[in-house]
Amino acid sequence: MTTFNLDGKVALVTGANTGLGQAIALALAHAGADIAAVGRSAPDETLADVRKAGRRGEWIEANLDDSNGVTAIVDAAVAKFGAIDIVVNNAGTRRRNDALDFTQDDWDAVIGVNLKSAFFLAQAAARWWVAQQRSGKIINIASMLSFQGGIRVASYTASKSGLLGITRLLANEWAARGINVNAIAPGYFATNNTQALRADPKRNQAILDRIPAARWGDPSDIGGAAVFLSSRAADYVHGAVLPVDGGWLAR
Ligand code: NAP
Repeated sequence: MTTFNLDGKVALVTGANTGLGQAIALALAHAGADIAAVGRSAPDETLADVRKAGRRGEWIEANLDDSNGVTAIVDAAVAKFGAIDIVVNNAGTRRRNDALDFTQDDWDAVIGVNLKSAFFLAQAAARWWVAQQRSGKIINIASMLSFQGGIRVASYTASKSGLLGITRLLANEWAARGINVNAIAPGYFATNNTQALRADPKRNQAILDRIPAARWGDPSDIGGAAVFLSSRAADYVHGAVLPVDGGWLAR
């Protein structure tokens, strides 16, 4: 087995119906993993592509607004596939509003999906791995706003900064149990999430001017990092964050 090969592994990917989650699911499938695609929208296109790659793909329907459902997600994946080996906390949302006008709902809606559900899903998977005496890999999808403040996205910044902190905390607690917890920090990618930014000519140009690679990321740019952190090649990598950002943070 080559170091990056994921044959026989089962990867649970949240928000795999579109954008970065879809690209990550496909990259993991092409590396050999079966895919449990978790989310509230049917991931038909993703599952079709996973099956075209010769892997098994199943939808586990879940709304991650409510973190109470996360144990049921792990149970459903184990029931369908017999095990899970990899969890990618990718599902995410954002609310844009001036900090002066930011509402409690703008806060709770984003923190609930991006941080609370991500933590409790990691916990549910780790409880299963510990009970089964198995190792596992968790990848949290962070952001440039795990490092920077951003503008008009208070709860998103809080969630992504928090997610990086949680990545480190969980690595500290679980590394000795054979559970690797790491993060990928995507830069600026062309997905639904960034449609408003790309549609604003001033913000679009300002962002492009700052990216050394001089282009928005394409979802296909993210998969290699996910395969690496899911694989045996990353067995001694704990609490790390891998930016995939066209050089944004180096600037
Ligand atoms: P996207 O195209 O908007 O996809 C977001 C995904 O999260 C969708 O699958 C969405 O499902 C799912 N989701 C949101 N709320 C959910 C909920 N309550 N329950 C279940 N699923 C939910 O955005 P993306 O760019 O691919 O983002 C993926 C991740 O990367 C997010 O964590 C985002 O913060 C992060 N990220 C993106 C960028 C970027 O430039 N695009 C940069 C840094 C970090 P629905 O389709 O059902 O809404």
